[in-house]
Amino acid sequence: MTNKADNLVQELERLRSLINNYNYQYYVLDDPSVPDAEYDRLYRELSKLESEHPDLITEDSPTQRVGAKPDTGFAEVVHELPMLSLDNAMDSDEMKSFNRRVKERLAQSENIEYVCEPKLDGLAISLLYENGLLTRAATRGDGSQGENITLNARTIRPIPLKLRTNNPPQRLEVRGEVFMLKSAFEAINEEARNTGAKVFANPRNAAAGSLRQLDPQITAKRNLSFYAYSVGLVSDDFKLADKHYDRLEQIKELGLPVSSEVKVVEGISGCLEYYEDIAERRDSLEYEIDGVVNKVNSIALQDRLGFVARAPRWAIAHKFPAQEEITQLLGVDFQV
Ligand code: NAD
Repeated sequence: MTNKADNLVQELERLRSLINNYNYQYYVLDDPSVPDAEYDRLYRELSKLESEHPDLITEDSPTQRVGAKPDTGFAEVVHELPMLSLDNAMDSDEMKSFNRRVKERLAQSENIEYVCEPKLDGLAISLLYENGLLTRAATRGDGSQGENITLNARTIRPIPLKLRTNNPPQRLEVRGEVFMLKSAFEAINEEARNTGAKVFANPRNAAAGSLRQLDPQITAKRNLSFYAYSVGLVSDDFKLADKHYDRLEQIKELGLPVSSEVKVVEGISGCLEYYEDIAERRDSLEYEIDGVVNKVNSIALQDRLGFVARAPRWAIAHKFPAQEEITQLLGVDFQV
């Protein structure tokens, strides 16, 4: 191998090992050591190098997988349908490229109908309802294996223990985000400061740390919230709607909370207007969001677009600028 190629392999290894280490601290310990913006910068650097040299992509690269494998005291849950991550767009140009790719792949010239949803800053979970009863809750983990956190999820008030229907499907898996309201986060940190306990860096870490407690009584006291944002496995006795938005309406009717901010929009201009509007109102929302998730509304089109390694091709997270996250993290985390 030439020196240049050697250096490249070494650089890829350095980035992978750094990112894997940050993943462990963030996903397993709920205790990040660098701001998200720094993590995102390294991740993008790795993705860029890998896209320029696809022959050097390794199976264990963090770009090929989701999150990190948990190693806590919880029982393991294997996700029958993997729980994926989302690709990110950092600005409106990247959003426009996403929209262009979608249209090209579908060979469609007219506007795509998208669903815009707040990107809740918490952690993804899967809820399994069997014959109408909540029988299992699991974290996303590394996407194929998560942790069984059923007892903890049962303490979260917005999560129904029983679906609101007399005719429940045999199986219905609902996915969504566990998060902490800003008010609950401030109350917890206030108490932690008074008692000398650990102060959480942000509501996301507080939500993750509270959900992944081995003692569900602690989770119960943390006042966690939940919004559903998609459907996973479903048995044949439940007829799902053929648009994403209508599916959210279906699960809402069954008693699962869905954010009232979710909207259907026309084309890329609709996505960008939604983003501007919610960015302006961000501070007045009761919960932290770190961007907007845009999803192709038609399930038939979603199926045609499919997936890449760790994310669907039919959705993208349009993130808010990183600077604010740095200040936010620095303001709390690095002073404690
Ligand atoms: P992500 O948070 O960028 O996006 C995927 C997640 O978005 C989903 O798993 C789900 O939990 C969430 N989500 C919120 N609202 C949603 C909605 N309406 N529909 C669908 N999903 C929704 O991806 P990720 O893989 O969970 O995390 C990667 C990000 O985490 C990085 O970009 C970085 O910001 C942060 N991170 C930071 C560190 C660190 O050390 N600071 C380490 C690892 C990850």
